[in-house]
Amino acid sequence: MPAPEAPEPSRLEALYGADTFSRQVMQKRLPKAIYKSLVRTMDHGEPLDPQVADIVAATMKDWAVERGATHYTHWFQPLTGLTAEKHDSLISPDGTGGVIYNFSGADLVQGEPDASSFPSGGLRATFEARGYTAWDPTSPAFLLRNARSATLCIPTGFVSWTGEALDTKIPLLRSMEALSRQAMRILKLFGTDAGVSRVLTTVGPEQEYFLVDKALFYRRPDLVTCERTLFGARPPKGQQLEDHYFGAIPPRVLAFMAESEEELYRVGVPVKTRHNEVAPGQYEIAPLFETSHVASDHQMLLMETLRRVADRHGLKAILHEKPFAGVNGSGKHNNWSMATDTGVNLLDPQDDTHTNMQFLLFLCAVIRAVDVHAELLRAAVASAGNDHRLGANEAPPAIISIFLGDMLTDILEQVEKGLPKRTLRGGTLDLGARTMPQIPRHSGDRNRTSPFAFTGNKFEFRAVGSTHSIAWPNTVLNTIVAESLDEIATQLEKAAGSSPTPAKLQSATLAILKKLVKEHKRVCFNGDGYSDAWHAEAAKRGLPNLKDSVAAFPVLKAKKTVDLFKKYGVLSKPEVESRHHITVEKWVKQVSIEADTMATIARTMILPAAVRHQQLLADTVTATEASGIDCPDTIEALDKFVALVAEARQALLALEGQLEHEDADPSKHAAHINTKLIPEMRRLRGACDALELYTAADLWPLPTYRELLFLQ
Ligand code: ADP
Ligand code: MG
Repeated sequence: MPAPEAPEPSRLEALYGADTFSRQVMQKRLPKAIYKSLVRTMDHGEPLDPQVADIVAATMKDWAVERGATHYTHWFQPLTGLTAEKHDSLISPDGTGGVIYNFSGADLVQGEPDASSFPSGGLRATFEARGYTAWDPTSPAFLLRNARSATLCIPTGFVSWTGEALDTKIPLLRSMEALSRQAMRILKLFGTDAGVSRVLTTVGPEQEYFLVDKALFYRRPDLVTCERTLFGARPPKGQQLEDHYFGAIPPRVLAFMAESEEELYRVGVPVKTRHNEVAPGQYEIAPLFETSHVASDHQMLLMETLRRVADRHGLKAILHEKPFAGVNGSGKHNNWSMATDTGVNLLDPQDDTHTNMQFLLFLCAVIRAVDVHAELLRAAVASAGNDHRLGANEAPPAIISIFLGDMLTDILEQVEKGLPKRTLRGGTLDLGARTMPQIPRHSGDRNRTSPFAFTGNKFEFRAVGSTHSIAWPNTVLNTIVAESLDEIATQLEKAAGSSPTPAKLQSATLAILKKLVKEHKRVCFNGDGYSDAWHAEAAKRGLPNLKDSVAAFPVLKAKKTVDLFKKYGVLSKPEVESRHHITVEKWVKQVSIEADTMATIARTMILPAAVRHQQLLADTVTATEASGIDCPDTIEALDKFVALVAEARQALLALEGQLEHEDADPSKHAAHINTKLIPEMRRLRGACDALELYTAADLWPLPTYRELLFLQ
């Protein structure tokens, strides 16, 4: 009898990582010694041996060519917030009519794209255009497929000729190093560092987005240019019925989701959940968590994939934070934790949490970090898109606070009084139906209104915008926690000595915890973050409330920020300043483009339509009266309509006036836009949305919210 065959790998198994030059592939294909040497580089940061690079390059090239690759690119994340790639052919003519492959170790390790057209925020003059991309061997290379081609993408960092980071990845890697160094000191004191060589940060980002019909999308210049609607009256039905959230997914959307997931699986992005979100037309996709920089690379791929695949399904994926007024916007919940490289989650409270001093220290390190650097965290997510979300009544408020839940709050209260004695438990929930199992209950409910919530074994930073790269917010998060851990480790080493007895360690830890809780509990808040009462209470507690980006921007270049990043080797002063400059400039450009687009749409589409409608009414009055019939109602309607048109015209003129303002200093320009231009944008929108409600539908030039939001 023939031996039973091994089961065929399932479709998913076959798909997963099929286009990823993963560790598994490397281990299989590389000579043992080479693989080992590479692992030393990947896991312990040892410099890469050039000979190793040559062999890895040859292996990678073979692997890619077998899978149809014709080109390779160094794939990086410049400060535009997007990704960049410049493709080079893997082959060149050999002079006899054939080709040779040309992809050496040097090509793998270093590239030199012309850096002059990427934003540098003053880090170098444009005539000094040199910039280098450097291979990040810890993030797997992958194949990017298009209709006819496959391109080998090599994740890289991007630095200037002078060694300054021109990208978002290098600072993220530096911040991970910083956190690891400090966290290891704590583990050492607790004797939990056996076999651990590093502490990693982990991230699982949940991505919200909208889907809109592609044909309708192209009829909206505002969506095409700004990815958000600048006009649009509210439809009679928005999200009031709350019937979209977790609802059944329409077939066309499901087809798009399935294809996106398939593509993401192929390149090794571990996507896990999908569902409808709160607003009509809104969805969410979330991968499993990974090491921060890999999660960050994958997050960029995920956004690109959603956009690319939607297009093939007659859809447009809209990632903007606020594409539609009046319904929820989109965010990116940044689930974050720290774990040893042996896989122990340092934010896992475990069963008897009150006895878990090491956990409590890591927890309080985060609390301290968020309290001390609340303004920086807020500023890290400042952007034109996020201005419509943060602080508006639907997304986390601009006040940064932490939700801990009942169990941890209770333990920290006990810590403040002395030795904690108990851990609250959730018990089980009896569903009251005999056929259903009893389910365990968490010790606390969820809180959806907190910007920074502890969710069981990780923190969820919810203020990140849906278009944002997660690299920067995580760089900030890692660095501020590194600083807290540094402070704590120093205190603990001083109080307990370098190899303390368990009793000594416990009493020293408790004393430090007590102080931390006392000093920083003001940032903890379990209640409703959307309520007015919280705003008043937060002000009383002295918590900062940076309401919009323009208020938050100065934090990005404040001395406190510069000192922090410098101290932990994450960013130099010029690197900090360049990021501030680029962020403000981007905000200014984005809002200016929106205002310009608004003016154009109002001038060339909405007002002409309104004038036609006005004429229709006027003609009706003339014709009706010519027939000898009075029509006071139509005259009144005309009267009202003319007033609406006049207001829209006035608003347009006012906006155009403000658009002429120029300022060489981006910060000053931003302040002008915030106080002068944005109010005029609001006025024009109000006037035009009112016109939409009264203009004949067949004359209205833009697809309406009803058409855009209720995708079939
Ligand atoms: P919820 O839906 O309750 O917010 P999930 O369990 O669905 O939580 O997880 C949300 C995200 O958090 C997922 O991407 C998940 O992988 C991620 N996550 C879970 N554990 C961790 C962790 N230790 N570090 C970072 N992210 C995590
Ligand atoms: Mg969540």
